[in-house]
Amino acid sequence: MRLAQHPPKFAPLPSIASGQLTIDLDAVVSNYRALSRWVAPTALGAVVKADAYGLGAGPVSRALSQTGCRDFFVAHLSEAIAVKSQVGTARVYVLNGVPAGAEPMCADASVLPVLNTLDQVARWACAGRMRNVRLPAAVQLDTGMSRLGLSETELSALCRSGLLQDINLRLVLSHLASADEPAAPSNADQRRRFEAMRAMLPKAPWSLANSAASLLDPESRGDLARAGLALYGVHPAQNDDMRLAAVVRLEAEVIQTRELPAGAGVGYGLTYKAERPMRVATISAGYADGWPRNLGNRGAAYFRGVRLPIVGRVSMDSMTVDVTALGSSGIHEGQWVELIGPHQSLEVVAADAGTIAYEILTRLGSRYERQYIQRNMPTEPAA
Ligand SMILES: *Cc1c(COP(=O)(O)O)cnc(C)c1O
Repeated sequence: MRLAQHPPKFAPLPSIASGQLTIDLDAVVSNYRALSRWVAPTALGAVVKADAYGLGAGPVSRALSQTGCRDFFVAHLSEAIAVKSQVGTARVYVLNGVPAGAEPMCADASVLPVLNTLDQVARWACAGRMRNVRLPAAVQLDTGMSRLGLSETELSALCRSGLLQDINLRLVLSHLASADEPAAPSNADQRRRFEAMRAMLPKAPWSLANSAASLLDPESRGDLARAGLALYGVHPAQNDDMRLAAVVRLEAEVIQTRELPAGAGVGYGLTYKAERPMRVATISAGYADGWPRNLGNRGAAYFRGVRLPIVGRVSMDSMTVDVTALGSSGIHEGQWVELIGPHQSLEVVAADAGTIAYEILTRLGSRYERQYIQRNMPTEPAA
């Protein structure tokens, strides 16, 4: 990892990587601060699962903990142990629960499991009894999404079991199925069910909102919001008023250019046929780099603000773009094009590929050279 003190030049030279992925940690921090103010007095936790959506859980968690974030969420225990080592005394929650037999490891790492099943609660209570402590944990309730958490029946059984006495209940959480559609009736249903279910439990802080609900639904914010996507600069819904700073920039190198006569085909299956003489450039990024294969004949790259349509299929390690619009000396081998950046947002790439920005982010490849921007190094250490 390189830490840049200044914005990188558009074409970092020399480079031996297929592409350059620039991650602006200052933008992550500024998005965190903006969203924190937005949801106040609700506290804001950061969701850094899946390697902080592909952007690097280590650097992202460190930057956010230095900014004052005290609650981090990941999916797996292995992720939690890695994040915990970066964030000191901040709390790290494991959304997918604790696997059977891993309770001592989880407790030793001072990581908080999100207990999703009666079995998980029983095992966590037992792990605490062996240590003569009530180990801290969160409990998740299924309020209608049918994904993770205790059902109403299981919650009743839990309350009758007495197991809760052996657990230090620090957070009760649930998740909305349609947070990005604030008018969906299921949101109000889930909120009501959550409130009724929470009333059966000892009083504890609660958390329901992801990025979309944090932005759009004040009633879902509770004590702690859990934001992922918005921190990484992507608007979770179309009609939010928040200004988010872009975090990701992706550039790839031109490795060859050529003139095509009318009638020439391009790429596997020759799915593109030049209708007139044209000029194309081959770019060193393909589907093995997480650049979606179904952007073939649909997506684009940008050079100096000019849109360069992808022609033919995206290959594993490269793709070809139409650079005719730039003229004969417009672009040449060794220059770099923008794949994600000021001219082409993650949302646009995702829409062109028929998917969501979450998927584009989490699939960003491992062959890129990664550069982290952090100009405003925090002066205060983490609390
Ligand atoms: C991934 C996840 C989040 C974060 O969602 P965003 O839409 O990225 O803000 C919050 N809560 C849970 C339970 C999640 O799985």
